[in-house]
Amino acid sequence: MIRTRFAPSPTGFLHLGSLRTALFNYLFAKHHKGSLILRVEDTDAQRNVPDAERDLESTLHWAGIHPDESPSVGGPYGPYRQSERFATYNEHVRKLVREDKAYKCFASKDEVARLQEAARRTGQKVNYDQLFTRAQRDDLSSRGASHVIRLRVPVDGTTAYDDVIYGRMEFSNGEIEDQVLMRSDGRPTYHLANVVDDRAMNISHVIRGEEWLQSTAKHVLLYEAFGWVPPIFAHLPLLLNKGGGKLSKRNKDVFVDDFRLQGVMSSALVNYVALLGWSPRLTEQRIFTMNQLVGTFSLEDVNRNKPTVDAGQIAWFNKEHLKMAYESPLGSASVIQDMQGLVRKTFSPVSERMISLEYLHQVLEVLIDRISYLPDVLRLGSCFWVEPKSTGEQFRVVSTDYRLILKKSAEKLDACDFVAHNVISLLRNVARDMGVQSKTVLRLIRLAVTGQEVGGQLGLTLEVLGRETVLRRLHAAGEI
Ligand code: GLU
Repeated sequence: MIRTRFAPSPTGFLHLGSLRTALFNYLFAKHHKGSLILRVEDTDAQRNVPDAERDLESTLHWAGIHPDESPSVGGPYGPYRQSERFATYNEHVRKLVREDKAYKCFASKDEVARLQEAARRTGQKVNYDQLFTRAQRDDLSSRGASHVIRLRVPVDGTTAYDDVIYGRMEFSNGEIEDQVLMRSDGRPTYHLANVVDDRAMNISHVIRGEEWLQSTAKHVLLYEAFGWVPPIFAHLPLLLNKGGGKLSKRNKDVFVDDFRLQGVMSSALVNYVALLGWSPRLTEQRIFTMNQLVGTFSLEDVNRNKPTVDAGQIAWFNKEHLKMAYESPLGSASVIQDMQGLVRKTFSPVSERMISLEYLHQVLEVLIDRISYLPDVLRLGSCFWVEPKSTGEQFRVVSTDYRLILKKSAEKLDACDFVAHNVISLLRNVARDMGVQSKTVLRLIRLAVTGQEVGGQLGLTLEVLGRETVLRRLHAAGEI
């Protein structure tokens, strides 16, 4: 049974890299009909941020990543918060100490610093255990002296593992510190808690960011100390921004919520993120739904190159997903509902007709090919909800004769079949009759009716606005 886990620390909002880690764990598990476990690694109380766990869960939910076991869903391997599992870590570390695979280290901070400095100078590994004899240790221990517990890492030999993505990873033991497993206040370190839990929760595959490649050697040593077989490891390459640097809060390219607020659809972001590092060998397909991703995903097709996050590409994926949703019977209802919310929030008060599902449908039909994100309709299509505000100066730039053109156009449109193609051909007639270029007339009409130089197809725009509104705006503009 494949069991993967996503193990965030609740220290803030979910960022794009973590979304990718969660997603790959989910896709891999689901592809193999396995389970995804959400485990909250909250042993460092000082770094925990209130509500972060709730935010993480809701962002995962938004993305369509639903863990099979988690603090809120529960499950047979709980509790799923590390802060509720201290007794387990304690029990495990004691066993290692009893077997002399780990030891209590009574060195003070200063002594540790001194040893580390000396080791740096000689290029040798720090030997924390040299400070005290076994008898001294027993004595200090019985007096309850403050200490940490360290793993006894062999001095010689190597520690190796096979990473699904990075291949064979080998580390000389001489370079691996006797890592702290338990802090002096009884809290486990990440290494201990992580390994104990992956074992206790029966995790088959550990899929996580490449920043843990080195630590994994420590984990492998810990598995050996316990006498356990390690899970399979797959580390995912770091995400970079277009400049080749790390993603940063400042560029608003880090947090999933930033993308969400910008109007990126969850299906588009998930599709985009799936392709950060994963390139399916057997297909050229780029647009995937979550189900298709589950069906196609394989860890073997994840490569080692660090992928670049590119806002332009996200826009492209969103455009495709928006169209796809809009064209599907189920998706279209939810797109229109979202649009209703946006319009209501932005242009209130508006009449019920202007936020009716039917009207919003017509408007979106006009704009769908011109937008990447749903909120773009608010800018590009503002004329559908508010009166345009163009100035005489703007009209004059198009034509000094603008008043006459508007008047003639209004006359023609007053009694005609008010459908897109007809309206446009009548406006072309106006141009011909007046001896001006069609594009001048059309540009002027667009400006007068929408207040903008760009937008959806003009004929459709006018048709959806309706004769009454169009004529009212043409008259108003002619008076300026
Ligand atoms: N809590 C670690 C983190 O926040 C988990 C790393 C792992 O997946 O082992 O990244």
